[in-house]
Amino acid sequence: DSYFEQTSSAPDTQEDISLRPPAFSEFHGQEKIKERLMLMVEAAKQRDDVLEHVLLSGPPGLGKTTLANIIAGAAGTQLHTTSGPQIEKAGDLAGVLTNVQKGDILFIDEIHRLHPAVEEYLYPAMEDFRLDIIIDSGPSARSIQLNLPKFTLVGATTRAGMLTSPLRSRFGLVNRLDYYSREELAVILIRSANLLKISIQPDGAAEIAARSRGTPRIANNLLRWVRDFAQVRGNGIIDAETAHNALAMIEIDNDGLDEMDVRILEAMIYKFNGGPVGLSSVAVAVGEDASTLEEVHEPFLIMQGFVKRTPRGRVALPAAYKKIGAPLTKPADE
Ligand code: ATP
Repeated sequence: DSYFEQTSSAPDTQEDISLRPPAFSEFHGQEKIKERLMLMVEAAKQRDDVLEHVLLSGPPGLGKTTLANIIAGAAGTQLHTTSGPQIEKAGDLAGVLTNVQKGDILFIDEIHRLHPAVEEYLYPAMEDFRLDIIIDSGPSARSIQLNLPKFTLVGATTRAGMLTSPLRSRFGLVNRLDYYSREELAVILIRSANLLKISIQPDGAAEIAARSRGTPRIANNLLRWVRDFAQVRGNGIIDAETAHNALAMIEIDNDGLDEMDVRILEAMIYKFNGGPVGLSSVAVAVGEDASTLEEVHEPFLIMQGFVKRTPRGRVALPAAYKKIGAPLTKPADE
């Protein structure tokens, strides 16, 4: 089900890029984070200074890349984009950093996947704007120091918990993006529909929003599908009924759960008697990697009240039993 394809590396389509809000004023939701970032940009501008390093964390598709672009635009600086896995050795980092001008933003996506050896080089670069590179090896090995222009690092990660504390502590501002509310997603959907010249009614937007897993990227993807459906099977206008029928056709769950979310709940209830169960046991049971469960699926299931974390493991809540139609056999937090 490609509508839920949302790994961090999933490329955005051409159309998606045009749906990216270009400025804070068009970025809806994440109000606290937006306010902090706007203030930070304004303060730096007043002092004619370079922005602090910023960390953005949170599940995929919530707008980390979009915010990095918006920050650069608001600060009037250039954005250079790379990602943790792309920087394989110190030389790659040096290559990237020597292209950066004073005040520019270096955006490192998936920063938790930086090689530990590369990370060591990043510390002095972030703190003192200097790179110590070892050239040659053996007896002739020597270190040369490169002075860098003052730049801003914007790091994005789906797994803030996996960042080493020396790296984390070098960010001036750490922001965790959260899932969007249905109301916020409905506003985003109406904006996207206007940009794509799609006719949508408020109840149609609300119907799609409810099934978007709190994620703008999914909302935009579902919108395109519903548009196609409305065009072929309806009168081209998206109302609640058209949206409902369109989403039923691709088997999108009423609560926005994807196939894996449902499998997780089923495993917890049928195989582990509702828990408490360790995340790694659930991962084995559903055949998914534990870190994907933790960063993509679990936060959503917790937010929606299907699962709870306890010191002894994860527990399925009554809503989970109801969702998969299982009889509630014991108190959920036993
Ligand atoms: P990843 O880490 O997977 O790249 P991300 O968190 O960086 O995810 P983005 O690529 O910034 O997410 O956002 C995904 C898409 O969702 C964007 O192309 C944009 O169209 C849309 N989007 C994200 N946030 C918003 C928002 N607040 N308002 C409107 N559209 C948004």
